[in-house]
Amino acid sequence: MSTGERPALRLVPAPATPPADAGPVLGAVELLPGRVRAALLDLSGTVLWRAEAAYPRGTADRADVDTALAEVARFPTPPAGVGVAAAGLVDAEAGVIIEVNEVPALHGYPVAEVLGRLVHAPVHIEHRARLQVLGDRWFGPGRGRTTFASVSTGEVLGVGLLYDGEVLAPPGGRSGAHMTVAASGRRCTCGARGCWKTVATTPWLRAEAERRGLGASTVRELAGHPLLDEYAGNIALGLVNIQQLFAPGLFVLHGEAAEGGERFRARIEQRLREDSSWARTAEPPRVVVNEGPADDVALLGGAGLVLSRR
Ligand SMILES: [Zn+2]
Repeated sequence: MSTGERPALRLVPAPATPPADAGPVLGAVELLPGRVRAALLDLSGTVLWRAEAAYPRGTADRADVDTALAEVARFPTPPAGVGVAAAGLVDAEAGVIIEVNEVPALHGYPVAEVLGRLVHAPVHIEHRARLQVLGDRWFGPGRGRTTFASVSTGEVLGVGLLYDGEVLAPPGGRSGAHMTVAASGRRCTCGARGCWKTVATTPWLRAEAERRGLGASTVRELAGHPLLDEYAGNIALGLVNIQQLFAPGLFVLHGEAAEGGERFRARIEQRLREDSSWARTAEPPRVVVNEGPADDVALLGGAGLVLSRR
């Protein structure tokens, strides 16, 4: 058993119980280091009910994770299925978490089996960054599309791709943050040089603003400043590569980019169009910003996973 600092389980009371005749409801669970969230959503992606529980991240054992999942999985209406957005590496086929940094209890944790016993409904799991594209596909700007890209911006950079109706998730594939965009760039956290992440995330913007002696350092504060145009161009660098390879046409931006306003969005789109103007047969690339609540991105993805597997 774990000892020491053990946060009490915390339940967020349900805002409302969905009416019994509202059609099927979708279950979503987000499993993070130290925290589990669950929600019931309707087919339009509206959150009808939510719950949250905590467990000690570093010292938890499996029983602690079991308990936290049991606390949040008390769905007031039985869901048609549950989609789990998990941090770390997952084996989606087996429904097992392979490993999560800082949480030894989750190494090899059979989350689909544990939840399946609790909710008596099909349970599917996927890495949370990859699920974002399914949230957009079913409930956001990607609704009805079979091919497009969903992009995380800010502290975390990454791209999820839906291609011909399938989430591109090859074993060992990653989300693009470490694609090389400069032959001799800055050293990245991964050890390589010139990764996309080194020039297109919040730390780059903060460092550049400081180096140039600007008083402001956030996207919101810098709106309209040439440094922000440069930042937009850096984000576009990675997206241009993706457009060249997969021509997804639509890029849905999440996170920090939403704070940059129309000029920021248009700058990224302009760069994408310039660099793919030769592609006469492809849909001209478009950039849209997802305005939905950032907190619910993974839960929407989980619900989208249920719909995608039905
Ligand atoms: Zn890297």
